[in-house]
Amino acid sequence: MHNELFKFKDHDEEYCLSPTHEEAITKLVSSVCKSLPRSNYPLLVYQITWKYRNEPNYRHGLLRTKEFLMKDLYSFHRDEDCAHQIYEQVCNAYERIFQKLELNSFKVPADSGLMGGSLNHEFLAVSPVGEDTILICSKCNRGYLNNKTQCEHEDKVEQRAIELGHCFLLGDRYTKAFNAIEGSSDTAVDKKPLIMGCYGIGLTRLMAASVEILTSKDSNNIRWPKRIVPYEVAILPPKKGSPEETVGNEKTLGRLLQLDDNEWFVDDRTEFTIGYRLKDCEKMGIPIVIAFGKRATQQNLCEVIDVYNNRTEYLSYEETLKFIQNYYSLFC
Ligand SMILES: [Zn+2]
Repeated sequence: MHNELFKFKDHDEEYCLSPTHEEAITKLVSSVCKSLPRSNYPLLVYQITWKYRNEPNYRHGLLRTKEFLMKDLYSFHRDEDCAHQIYEQVCNAYERIFQKLELNSFKVPADSGLMGGSLNHEFLAVSPVGEDTILICSKCNRGYLNNKTQCEHEDKVEQRAIELGHCFLLGDRYTKAFNAIEGSSDTAVDKKPLIMGCYGIGLTRLMAASVEILTSKDSNNIRWPKRIVPYEVAILPPKKGSPEETVGNEKTLGRLLQLDDNEWFVDDRTEFTIGYRLKDCEKMGIPIVIAFGKRATQQNLCEVIDVYNNRTEYLSYEETLKFIQNYYSLFC
């Protein structure tokens, strides 16, 4: 850990860039917890922020980097029971998140290692570029780390995997050190350190893992989990100067543009052909492209391109909306 700490000097003062934020959060909580009423517990705080590691082996794009974005939740509790309850709820929520991303991931019991604490789980997605190893039991469809307790079945398959998230029940390791004590009353029993949990998802790594896992090796076109596509739909208006350029607002293109959906985007670089812009959409991994070339415009239809399944259909305005709705509702 020491080697990976990013250190630098400024005006003879030494600084470091933080690889984890347990200390900072616990210090913050310790400054307010003594005056917090009991009804504020469990206390849950979260952040989405950058972390740093002086990583000698940065590789695979965003998979292992010196600077990375993480989403962290920290929980503080007055007793162990509450801590276990929230720990389980958050772990289950994280498990559902990763399942919805369709990345073939597993929640596995793990070692606490440098973080300390009593209980922790890793979330690992199977991928040949992963740096971890996971043993998968096809009978109970669970994953295990090599050195940890496993199910009774034999013949587990060993796979490489990428760590996407990690949850820890930290006990009072940090709260004791930073004197984060629940003190709403003067009774001695309340003067004990809070119990703490932390729960992280590596966001930049999740993006990289998604691309690694879902994108075909011999394709330049990114594939995303449908839950985190940059845009659900791209609309390509006709090329500038083409006969179909002037389309009235009452026509399908005009009606689509009026929908003004934040998850859609309009590629209005109409100086380029439809084909050119479609290629860009495919590269970015936008799953549905609606193009207004000659045939679609003449027949007042939408050319609906299902990019991930390599299919094209000509649909009416209503059919198009239904198509999009069906496409994404499958993944709710
Ligand atoms: Zn098993």
